[in-house]
Amino acid sequence: MLRGRPGLKEIHPYIPGKPISEVAREYGIQSIIKLASNENPMGPSPLAIKAAGKALNDVNRYPDPGGYELRRKISRMLGLRMEEVILGNGSVEIVEQIAGAFLDPGDEAVVGDPAFSKYDIATRIMGGRVVAVPLREWTHDLEAMADAVTSRTRLIFIPNPNNPTGTMVTSDAVAAFLDRLPGGVIVVFDEAYYEYIEREDYPDTLARVREGKDVIVLRTFSKIFGLAGLRIGYGLAKEELIQPLNVVRETFNTNSVAQAAALAALDDRDHVFRSRESNEQGMKVLADGLHAMGLEFIPSVANFVLVDFGVDVREVFQGLLKRGVIVRPMIPYRLPTMARVTVGKEGENERFLDALSDLFRREGRR
Ligand code: PMP
Repeated sequence: MLRGRPGLKEIHPYIPGKPISEVAREYGIQSIIKLASNENPMGPSPLAIKAAGKALNDVNRYPDPGGYELRRKISRMLGLRMEEVILGNGSVEIVEQIAGAFLDPGDEAVVGDPAFSKYDIATRIMGGRVVAVPLREWTHDLEAMADAVTSRTRLIFIPNPNNPTGTMVTSDAVAAFLDRLPGGVIVVFDEAYYEYIEREDYPDTLARVREGKDVIVLRTFSKIFGLAGLRIGYGLAKEELIQPLNVVRETFNTNSVAQAAALAALDDRDHVFRSRESNEQGMKVLADGLHAMGLEFIPSVANFVLVDFGVDVREVFQGLLKRGVIVRPMIPYRLPTMARVTVGKEGENERFLDALSDLFRREGRR
């Protein structure tokens, strides 16, 4: 029998991508590629690895609970004050902090559907009500989200670009949306894939933070910086919004190795540049290959693409696993024929496409 608070019974835990070690164990395959968790296939920055190694010598000490060096660096880079920066054990921990700091039972959080599911989970854990607004053309429908605001709305979560669709909302759409919101509603822009994007119409949400708007921006070292395993991300907002997050966050939430690696990664512009270039090329390879196979996909600005296989995605997932390729089936998002595929490095994208055509050939589908 399940225990726990009654409200928890309706919450499904987040289902992460299948780890490489698990596939190796279950299928007895050595060569496996993981295109399932939107990680950077180029690996971490060499500078970050070096800094992390050095920091290991001091892990007998607790980390700096305030992450002084890292927050100072981030704040200077972005033209904010240190009090306007908070660190998280991954940016998702800041999502939990936000729900913990701003939601009383019965308060509402507006989210897109389908969108990154952590907002939904964090809201429900606090006893909040999730108001899910369907995407329009696979993109957050900001007009409908503003329409969904009630006197109980405390938070609106906008992943930009969205996971799992890879679509973004533009600066014009965001400007019109923010103008319509009543006072007291906090908008969270989750910009986990920010560094991959080079679009002129991408919204400058930090300008809104600097203007003193009720906006929290989330960014992470898990994606382009390649530090997903160290769990470190950050949030940016005016001090009156950051301060309550500091009350709910665990004191030593980010570890010393992660802080040191993140600090070094910020200096490695070359790694970021190469990662972005590789992603752009890989995305082209995937798009061309999928197109050639006659498969539909949602054009993406991020490092992953949502593909419609037109058949039960569980079969595709299993077929690819047998061929040593891990993708992310979208069953939890109620998209039963779709999977999210992370852009791999050179060779990996081709291997995914080859495995897919082999699978379809064998099944006589295409
Ligand atoms: N936000 C979005 C939109 C994401 O897709 C992800 C990664 N799955 C995260 C946050 C998680 O980032 P972190 O590793 O920093 O917790």
